[in-house]
Amino acid sequence: MTITAPTNPTTADSTASIEARLLALQAEYEQRIFGITQSLAKTAGSVEQWSDQSAAHQNDDAYYSLRQEAETELAQVRTALTRLHSGEYGVCTVCGAQIEAGRLTAIPQATRCLQHAH
Ligand SMILES: [Zn+2]
Repeated sequence: MTITAPTNPTTADSTASIEARLLALQAEYEQRIFGITQSLAKTAGSVEQWSDQSAAHQNDDAYYSLRQEAETELAQVRTALTRLHSGEYGVCTVCGAQIEAGRLTAIPQATRCLQHAH
């Protein structure tokens, strides 16, 4: 009687574990955006209480750029999830090469190889 070990075609993480990590990231960014939006709503409501209106606006600007940053990250995570489902995950969108495993471990939503990261 021969016991065959389950074959794993990918040496890296399984699709399920990558998906779990991406979904966790997605939830994290969604929560961050929600938190920032809440903070912005509070600031908007209390603007009259600020003695210096320009300080209030500067504060808003910081929140807006933080939210934009989080939205960009969230979009990348969603793109990675879509690509995971279509079998394109881990392939550089610029040159079509396999993205470095270490890079994907550090940034699961990366859609470009190290060479084309910037
Ligand atoms: Zn590339």
